[in-house]
Amino acid sequence: MIPFTGNPLDRAAEKRLDAAWLESKRRDPSSLVLPMWRLQPLLLGPQRSAAQPALGLLRPEIADAIAGPDAPCIFLGLDGEQAVFALDVSQADDPGTAPPLAALGHFREARAAAQMVSARDGAIIGQAKALLDWHQRHGFCPRCGAPTQMMDAGYRRLCGKCNAEHFPRVDPVVIMLAIHDQACLIGRNKQFPPGLFSALAGFVEPGETIEEAVRRELMEEAAVKVGEVTYHATQPWPFPSSLMIGCFAQAHSRQVKADENELAEVRWLERRVARELLEGKKIDGLNLPPPIAIAHHLIKAFAMGEK
Ligand SMILES: [Zn+2]
Repeated sequence: MIPFTGNPLDRAAEKRLDAAWLESKRRDPSSLVLPMWRLQPLLLGPQRSAAQPALGLLRPEIADAIAGPDAPCIFLGLDGEQAVFALDVSQADDPGTAPPLAALGHFREARAAAQMVSARDGAIIGQAKALLDWHQRHGFCPRCGAPTQMMDAGYRRLCGKCNAEHFPRVDPVVIMLAIHDQACLIGRNKQFPPGLFSALAGFVEPGETIEEAVRRELMEEAAVKVGEVTYHATQPWPFPSSLMIGCFAQAHSRQVKADENELAEVRWLERRVARELLEGKKIDGLNLPPPIAIAHHLIKAFAMGEK
């Protein structure tokens, strides 16, 4: 399963407008609240433990004890009958070191946390991180500059001056493997450590289809011409608000040239070598992205002959 996918919550979007229902669920002792401190989720248990930590879903009164009076709170959805919220406790100095949290758990950077918890908890972290991050960065109206207010349990902001509405953003990114015969194209970003190669990627631009973005990015970054583009899978990537759209593209030839502004190197990876690398063999000092990244799953699908 691709990390950040498979969110188990029923988003129950119709409840976002029901203020009375939200208020009663927010006080209901059987509801669950995930405190997020400076975009880091709470994990239960000590920082150093071999066991898989559970997500820090707390009873509302415990979570409220560490939050400021106006702490932003978002309705994430329903887990059966239980309502699940995310609460921004960023105003606290370091709530992980003081009661009542010190004995319960600790805050952990979202990407690391998502790799430690179960897949379903990781998907909830992704939803909470993307939404709270958006609120933190959209306190002012991009149209008139006046302050905006959170509405609809966290799924809208409204400008108090010009009444413009703003909705949580999702930024589409294409990430793709060009394929030629038994090899796929991987690249090494200038910022990557030596030996690490990944799928090429880039933001979809206004007025572009996914297929057009894939063709443009492959041409810009590697000067490779491709024919058919096919969709493989998507991954929400909350850093801060991307949707990674994984694709394969059939290359016309193996002629490539790396865009020197972005990439240190591009190379063709033979299917057999990809399989051996994924099995853990050491070859040419090559490293592939870890399973948290959709690039890993694209390369794996290619290695296993799915494409
Ligand atoms: Zn405005």
